[in-house]
Amino acid sequence: MSTFFFYTLSYILISGCIVYPPTEFISAGLTIKDIFSDLLGRENEFFIQYHLRRSVITLFVHSMLPFGYICGLILFEHINIVRVLQGYHNFWLIFIICALHLPLHTLYKVLTWSTNNWSKHPIVRNLVTYCNNNNVENNNTTWSTIASDINTEYRRIDKTIINTNSVSCVIATDNWIIKVMPYKILVAHQSDTVLIVNKSDTHNMSPVTRGEVQFINIQVKPTRTGAEPFDVRINALDFKNLEDRVSRPIAILQNIKFHKTLLDRFIDNFKEQVQENPVYEFTDEVGQCIGCMQAASNVKLFKQCTTDVGGHSDDCVTCYCRPMWCIDCMAKWFASRQDENAPETWLSSKCTCPLCRAKFCILDVCLIQSVRES
Ligand SMILES: [Zn+2]
Ligand SMILES: [Zn+2]
Ligand SMILES: [Zn+2]
Repeated sequence: MSTFFFYTLSYILISGCIVYPPTEFISAGLTIKDIFSDLLGRENEFFIQYHLRRSVITLFVHSMLPFGYICGLILFEHINIVRVLQGYHNFWLIFIICALHLPLHTLYKVLTWSTNNWSKHPIVRNLVTYCNNNNVENNNTTWSTIASDINTEYRRIDKTIINTNSVSCVIATDNWIIKVMPYKILVAHQSDTVLIVNKSDTHNMSPVTRGEVQFINIQVKPTRTGAEPFDVRINALDFKNLEDRVSRPIAILQNIKFHKTLLDRFIDNFKEQVQENPVYEFTDEVGQCIGCMQAASNVKLFKQCTTDVGGHSDDCVTCYCRPMWCIDCMAKWFASRQDENAPETWLSSKCTCPLCRAKFCILDVCLIQSVRES
């Protein structure tokens, strides 16, 4: 019984890794597209044809998983196939029938799709909506024309590929937006597509470093009749890449807030932290920020942190400069002095005053409260 349990558990685990490969499987080349690479051809040469084959093979391999499980059970003699067929174990009989039915049904489906030059395959049906004459049956040359247009654009080096997870990605070429998924791909021509950011969600990775990951949902709505709208969910930091690549503006719904760049995100985190620091009461009049020449200066570097006495070279020191910066400029200055490759350490790192070079940390940045003397 325990070997049965162990086998079942390992089989479920391995199946999970086949359907949704973790990075270890990807780097070891244990994914469907690596194993069947000879059959698939080259993605860069024939993008659409490659994904047509890949989707069919993926579907078939996935449909074989329950059958493979049964084969293993028979091989390890956990179930006696003769007794099952004699009707002693009805549960297993039903399971075997279902496990056999699944790949057979898939095979039937694939055969139906493949007739008439794959004209019934979901990928081709999606392409056909972009033919100027929407006749699937008599127009199998036309979908090839669109496919070769997409193939040509995909071959160019200036496309943008954003991996959304280990099995799907979003590709933007000169004229197309393509979403690649395990069983199909969806395409939209940029000229008649509306792009809207309609959702964003933030996940905190660590409360200490305020490392957060933000995702946005972009609705891709082709206005062409018959074209299927779809959603793409990407990391907010990839938004700029996509926006720069597509020819259309990406609308952002009014209530959606997200950080387009690391600096954006840092400035917000910086401000949030400074809000928690004590305020600095200032009696003189404050001038304009010398960084942006627009906002009024509203921060003062005022040593708050308690570092152990011992004169470490890394300790914060008192800055005697007048307040001359606004909080945005101070945040930008702070970020500019940090290690570009380790943004999660920025908030906990130190910086030097732009004028007197006194060392300070985030705890020493205080907002100014004007106190008028009467
Ligand atoms: Zn400023
Ligand atoms: Zn200073
Ligand atoms: Zn400090």
